[in-house]
Amino acid sequence: MLDAVADGVYAWIQPGGESGVSNAGVVVDDDGLTVIDTLMVRSQWEPFAAAVAALELPVRRTILTHAHIDHVGGTKAFPNAAIYATPITSDALDLPMPIDGYKQFMPAFDEEFDDLAELGTRAVTHLVEGAAQLTARIEVLPAPGHTPGDLVVLVADVDVCFAGDLCFFGVTPLAFQGDPAMWADVLDAVVELADTIVPGHGPIGGEAEVRDLQGYLRACVAANGDVQAIAPGPWDTWIDRDRDAINVERAALLARGDDALPPSMLKAIGQA
Ligand SMILES: [Zn+2]
Repeated sequence: MLDAVADGVYAWIQPGGESGVSNAGVVVDDDGLTVIDTLMVRSQWEPFAAAVAALELPVRRTILTHAHIDHVGGTKAFPNAAIYATPITSDALDLPMPIDGYKQFMPAFDEEFDDLAELGTRAVTHLVEGAAQLTARIEVLPAPGHTPGDLVVLVADVDVCFAGDLCFFGVTPLAFQGDPAMWADVLDAVVELADTIVPGHGPIGGEAEVRDLQGYLRACVAANGDVQAIAPGPWDTWIDRDRDAINVERAALLARGDDALPPSMLKAIGQA
């Protein structure tokens, strides 16, 4: 269901928020709609696209917050929209889809990935290389942390930020391509942007939820490579804590200048 977050601003929140189960958004401008992220597989994006179509306004633009498949798998559901993303997201979408890795990492969607492989994704049509006012209501801001190519989307007139996967609320974040230390710092800027934050995974929140996430990321950095050393905190009730090892390993690798994928992530995608 499209939740009206503010006047002409909707969120599509998928309950659970685990791997492959992400959120999306819609913003109404004078010329039509902007869709923010597109979910992953057909059973997810078909109902979302139907709800968007029921608004009876043209979809002018799609903004992709980053290249992960649970945000870009539904780009073909909006065939006439311009697609905005960072150059890093664009490059990632031009690569072949690692379908076998997706199946290993998200076995719940095993059969639907065959459909996705056949369907493919659309290419990015417009590169976002810096902060830009995209429409009268929408500003896009590059803010790497979860990946090197993250964008956040600000609708300042109603004080709403679509943070993509810079925010996971109630769900353990996943930093296999991110930088936990940089990510934690970027969240200081995110809380300044808006009071209402729509995360990439989990329910809508605000500063308190962002600060919890920031605390977790800093605990992963402070753990210094030892997953058992993550301090207790609000994250003790979050789902997907098996990501701790990935996040701690990634932070430790980056601390010694190594940009490799963490061994636990390689294992999770069947490459170790
Ligand atoms: Zn992601």
